[in-house]
Amino acid sequence: LQKLRSGLSRSSRELGNNLSGIVSKRKLDDDTLQDLEDVLLQADLGMETTTRITDALSASRYGRELTEKDIRSVMAREVGRVLEPVAKPLELDLSHKPHVVLVVGVNGTGKTTTIGKLAAKLTRGGLKVTLAAGDTFRAAAIEQLHIWGERTGSEVISTKLGADAASLAYDAYARAKENGSDVVIIDTAGRLQNKAELMAELEKIVRVLRKHDNALPHTVLQTLDATTGQNAMNQVEIFRNVAGVNGLVMTKLDGSARGGILVAIAARHQLPVYFIGVGEDIDDLEPFEADDFANAIAG
Ligand code: GDP
Repeated sequence: LQKLRSGLSRSSRELGNNLSGIVSKRKLDDDTLQDLEDVLLQADLGMETTTRITDALSASRYGRELTEKDIRSVMAREVGRVLEPVAKPLELDLSHKPHVVLVVGVNGTGKTTTIGKLAAKLTRGGLKVTLAAGDTFRAAAIEQLHIWGERTGSEVISTKLGADAASLAYDAYARAKENGSDVVIIDTAGRLQNKAELMAELEKIVRVLRKHDNALPHTVLQTLDATTGQNAMNQVEIFRNVAGVNGLVMTKLDGSARGGILVAIAARHQLPVYFIGVGEDIDDLEPFEADDFANAIAG
């Protein structure tokens, strides 16, 4: 929680500066509401949540003097309401082992690191995990995954650079069945430079897995980098269509993060947010808590 608070401190400070400009000795009128709307949109909160906040303030305080504290408390409450329905724990269905988690997202958003942290959580909970180095384009990604495999005691299935990712994904699934794994986590490439190729590759991975069991992959987890602001929204739109994303992780919320976009994404997509990344270490993956996040955003 401390890391989340300090990670979001930059946006909260920016917000504070902007809010104090708005509230200095002014009554809440249409102009103030307009200024406030601009500030909230600038914080990437999105139109829907911004309107919720300005409507709520307008309903309770129109024509009265406004303090920064009033705004922050309404903001925390309304943001909390938007986030509450998406703050869900990742549930694994172990009745059909292995549970398959496909991890997608643009390169650099934290896929491999999140896989490592997740594997650590699961293995500590007594589950057996197999990792699949499905980003067959980058030697570094394959190496990184092997390191996480060693650190978490998980078998890593990999192949040579440039090999077909879909066959690798299937091999990893078959191997995980064979070695009695509870969960198999599949890394993928995220080269947004060549969208057509990326789409074809992800679609093929999903298709090949489905040929064996229509319920696969059970979880399609997308990583989003909290420092990239509005880009994260575009990325969800792309990967949701291509890969059937059904859960999110927001990473790098420890740095100088701009977390507002997660609120806009929650309002638009209603996808569960399972975890947040708050650092590069093995323990830096935390369950997503709506109220903590809302309070950190509102400052
Ligand atoms: P990938 O290309 O999507 O697999 O991304 P990586 O897992 O390789 O991560 C890219 C960089 O971001 C690496 O330097 C990671 O250590 C770093 N990273 C990942 N998650 C976090 C996080 O939650 N916080 C911080 N500060 N860095 C992170």
